[in-house]
Amino acid sequence: MTAAYEYLRDRDAAHIWHGRAPDEPAPGDAVLLGEDELRSVRRMSSRAAVRYTASHAALRRVLARYLDVAPQEVVLGRRPCPRCGHPRHGRPRVDAPVTDLDFNFSRSGGHWLLAVVVGRQVGVDVEDGRRLDVEGASKLVMSASELAHARSRPDEAARLDAFFRAWTRKEAVVKASGVGIITNLKAVDVQPHRDGPVVVRHTEPTGPGTWLVQDLPTAGGAFAALARESGSTGPVELCDYEEPRNEERQWRGVLVP
Ligand SMILES: [Zn+2]
Repeated sequence: MTAAYEYLRDRDAAHIWHGRAPDEPAPGDAVLLGEDELRSVRRMSSRAAVRYTASHAALRRVLARYLDVAPQEVVLGRRPCPRCGHPRHGRPRVDAPVTDLDFNFSRSGGHWLLAVVVGRQVGVDVEDGRRLDVEGASKLVMSASELAHARSRPDEAARLDAFFRAWTRKEAVVKASGVGIITNLKAVDVQPHRDGPVVVRHTEPTGPGTWLVQDLPTAGGAFAALARESGSTGPVELCDYEEPRNEERQWRGVLVP
């Protein structure tokens, strides 16, 4: 294993990689994708396909740095669903090489985020903060107390902030626990009135039942959140992804101890 892997393992740390997917295709990206991903790409518009392909290639390039293999040797698959055991809709994982490294990946617009930890489950979500029907969307996913908080905000912009803070936190939790969109999100109370990190209860038949959830800084009006196992004590560190021509990692800062 690499020094980067040992760094995460020894410190119980989380690395959060941020990237911007280009609007022009790059040679060498598509060959890194798996069959399922290529099937998805073929159903997309050309702009969406370029962004998807670039971000999923970047995902493998970053994971390869921890796993001490070439990007084309990183094979991604899924864990069984924690509820029904189905092999196709559990959490994404590294199938090869064999590792206890865990990751979670999220894209929105031209942004992507990748969370990497060792020996724990992790979830991450980024949303580009687009305008929407805040009241309607909030009623669909917020608990009664979350809704009361959102409605108490002074204006539409503040209510939008409250909605996306809650939404990204909920998504990070259900992605960490492995059930995705089939969960009733109202039942996952993420305390949007608190800046965080907050401890959130959400139990599935397998995996942890409490999560340490925090907002992540983003650029350009996007919202993002991270969910780690609640016993996680290590730092959360932000890393900017550079295209392959510049392999040096850029450390942007350390968020919380
Ligand atoms: Zn299932």
